[in-house]
Amino acid sequence: MSTQSTLDKLKSYLSEIEKNNAKGKCINAFLQLNEKAFEQAKLIDEKIKKGKAGRLAGKIIAIKANINVKGMNASCASLTLKDYTCPYDASVIEKIKKEDGLIIGMTNMDEFACGSSGETSAFGACKNPAALDLIPGGSSSGSAASVAAGFCDMALGSDTGGSIRNPASHCGVVGVKPSYGLVSRYGLIDLSMSLDQIGAFAKKAEDAALLLDVIKGRDEKDATTYQSKEIRIEKLNKLRIGIPNIKIQDKRISELISKKIKEIADKKGWQAKNIDLRHVDLAIQTYYPICYVEFFSGTRKFDGRRYGKKIEDACGPEVLRRILGGSEISKAEFKGLYYRRALRAKQLIKQEFESAFKDADCIIMPTVPRLPHKLGSKISVEEMYGYDALTIPANLAEIPALSLPIGKIDNIPVGMQILCPHLKENVMFSVAREFESII
Ligand code: GLN
Repeated sequence: MSTQSTLDKLKSYLSEIEKNNAKGKCINAFLQLNEKAFEQAKLIDEKIKKGKAGRLAGKIIAIKANINVKGMNASCASLTLKDYTCPYDASVIEKIKKEDGLIIGMTNMDEFACGSSGETSAFGACKNPAALDLIPGGSSSGSAASVAAGFCDMALGSDTGGSIRNPASHCGVVGVKPSYGLVSRYGLIDLSMSLDQIGAFAKKAEDAALLLDVIKGRDEKDATTYQSKEIRIEKLNKLRIGIPNIKIQDKRISELISKKIKEIADKKGWQAKNIDLRHVDLAIQTYYPICYVEFFSGTRKFDGRRYGKKIEDACGPEVLRRILGGSEISKAEFKGLYYRRALRAKQLIKQEFESAFKDADCIIMPTVPRLPHKLGSKISVEEMYGYDALTIPANLAEIPALSLPIGKIDNIPVGMQILCPHLKENVMFSVAREFESII
């Protein structure tokens, strides 16, 4: 543990935020700061002195604004929930507090996690700290940006089709989507509940593994959760890396990744071989019907009577597109057509990964097929959805995936994705750690 007290560390992060969040570089990563942070930091420091502090003592953590933190505003970056004060802590937040992690604030995001650029927030876009005129990626834009900008040690995000890994890749930090069911979703305001997972951002794989180990585990309040063993970095002797034959928009990204794989395979004596993942091409068409239908259903509670405003009256165009699309697909006359077909395609993709993992311990591919666009530039809906072509497959297959910064192209960070079989997070983190040692 560092010698700096939690309070001093908090002060230095807050002064960085003061300088560059709303002013200076205007990163706009935070929607709200925790007013009780000073008091809480002092209590944590007292516990540290007494030798009674938990595993996250001294760690300063930012939380995506779609996760309930008691007393804070989980607005989902929407006018719908602008005045919603969380009445309780999500299960992940209870666990973080129990281990003495200090919550610094709620982060900016695409509205209701619908987006890949961070631009659909009702409270203004977030900027990429590594390249200020570019998008930071999304939807967990503020969580990735706050780690990259040096505003905190770690952050939580949610990932339905790439929302942790995509901004991690563009901002140059580590971002992890765990196996479906590893982490409780209780207290997460869902986008698409059969795909959503809460996961971690950090500068290094080791810190992300620590945060994930704290938040994981069976939760009575989320029936999809598993009891799982400790998440930690292990020593890897032999490893078979599977490389899918995927053509992407920006070839320089694949070339950079191939170079790194070759370097590590030579150094460690690991095996790298090509694998076939044909159904990955169906990912986007499979994801959106599921996402639209589940989002439509999940947002029916925002009817203006219980939480905030009626969503249709307060939301932006991307959220409205999904609500209208989801309502259309859910109509009785389309029964069995879109949603059920998408579930069948999801199953196919899942099986394809399962069979690929018979010959490979992990699969490595780019996180995002292109570099981020300029903030505010007009791109089509299809182009926006295309950002997630390579991250969605892991959500459909319910497997863990991590985006690791592996270098820069045109001075813009580029991430590489490591995917592993269901609940094999330890292999994934260990592979990431080995790559970190050569980067
Ligand atoms: N960008 C994808 C979408 O807009 C993924 C979002 C997410 O993972 N929350 O649906």
